[in-house]
Amino acid sequence: MLEKGNIAAIQKNSAVGISSHANIDASWQEIRSLLHKEFGGAAFKSWIAPIKPQSFNNGVLELAVATRFMRDWVKTHYADRIRQLWAQYHGVVARVDVVIAAPSAEKTAPFTSESAVETLPTPDNISSPLDVRFTFDNFVVGKPNELAHAAARRVADSDTVAFNPLFLYGGVGLGKTHLMHAIAWTIRARTPRRKVVYMSAEKFMYQFVRALRFKDTMSFKEQFRSVDVLMIDDIQFICGKESTQEEFFHTFNALIDQNKQIIISADKSPSDLDGLEERLRSRLGWGLVADIHPTTYELRLGILEQKRDMLKREIPQNVLEFLAHKISSNIRELEGALNRIIAHSELTGRPVTIDGAQDLLQDLLRANDRRASVEDIQRKVAEHYNIRISDMHSPRRARMVARPRQIAMYLAKALTEHSLPEIGRKFGGRDHTTIMHGVRRIEEFLLTDRSLKEEVDLLKRAIGG
Ligand code: ADP
Ligand code: MG
Repeated sequence: MLEKGNIAAIQKNSAVGISSHANIDASWQEIRSLLHKEFGGAAFKSWIAPIKPQSFNNGVLELAVATRFMRDWVKTHYADRIRQLWAQYHGVVARVDVVIAAPSAEKTAPFTSESAVETLPTPDNISSPLDVRFTFDNFVVGKPNELAHAAARRVADSDTVAFNPLFLYGGVGLGKTHLMHAIAWTIRARTPRRKVVYMSAEKFMYQFVRALRFKDTMSFKEQFRSVDVLMIDDIQFICGKESTQEEFFHTFNALIDQNKQIIISADKSPSDLDGLEERLRSRLGWGLVADIHPTTYELRLGILEQKRDMLKREIPQNVLEFLAHKISSNIRELEGALNRIIAHSELTGRPVTIDGAQDLLQDLLRANDRRASVEDIQRKVAEHYNIRISDMHSPRRARMVARPRQIAMYLAKALTEHSLPEIGRKFGGRDHTTIMHGVRRIEEFLLTDRSLKEEVDLLKRAIGG
């Protein structure tokens, strides 16, 4: 791989302790391509390619990168290997220093031309509007959301960066967006000079794609440069969208390097998000990861009571209790049910009763009765067998994940009303015949395998079927 003449030249130079730049560059090229093979394309592109070798004097190799975060990462992940490889070319390497150097002028110059900056307007604040109802005052705290709430409060109330990033996750309608808006309201009220940007991951993606189309990613980046607090909601939307992830990752790193607060929400934990690049996944988990659990009866009742007080309506307590018992899916549905009942009683002039509510909410109540969702089943089964939820969607065929996955398929068929193709979609886009095969396999096993039968019965009870 190495040309002989090259090594000789390099070694001669390093013998006197100094290597010329041309020689450093030559051996760096070689080492780079070795590292590329070793660590793969993604790691190479993000971490290794941007490294600039600076000097090799007296056994000390100095490498430069652009940001503090990159420096730390390169130091912990690659410096040792680089030292070994460099030593193969240059003899003993005492140390590898990684330093921060601003990107060289030649690289940034083409982007900062006036015309490029003007192509896209850079509005003063790119944040999406905030919902006035989503404040901390209106947020009812209970067991399922107390950690997420406490973390959100901490971030909102401190002037320095508390945890970075704060990663909030939980199912649909459990209050992620509400908490994010509450943080934004609070920071804006306490320290108006801090620029808070809230946007959905979808909007982030849309803006980035637009910037690409206008060939103007520079002003896209510019928009985020002055941000003090960046909130990206529903990050699962950029999963699988590689270029957007890449851009997000860079924006994210740049802001963290400048000690800016970042808050992310998603419907799953970083490790369970599918289609997320590994380095982004690991970076997302560096701060505080706080989950919001499915609601409890107490929390649901608390939210209904708060809502009743806020709306100043006469609603009997037993109707609220009835709703809190019956509608356990999510808070959005719960609120929807209450609104429907109120609207109905206002239109008809009739008082609110349990019977009336039952009549009015038939569809919603039925949907909540057959409670188990495919997602619940996947979660419960994954927990039981100690595998990741993402293994339910992944193509992995190892028995230790394939069997639990088939059990989940079987339970999905038995406990929900979804069709096989629907179930297939929820298992990573599998064909309905695959689902049928999985279901049959488990049915067969159940006839003969007593311990499997016990496990499946246990799971059924846990899922509530
Ligand atoms: P998510 O973003 O997790 O899907 P949202 O934040 O949009 O959920 O919440 C759905 C609805 O439920 C909103 O109207 C929100 O105000 C309400 N909600 C969620 N959690 C709470 C809570 N703990 N207290 C009061 N309202 C809540
Ligand atoms: Mg939301």
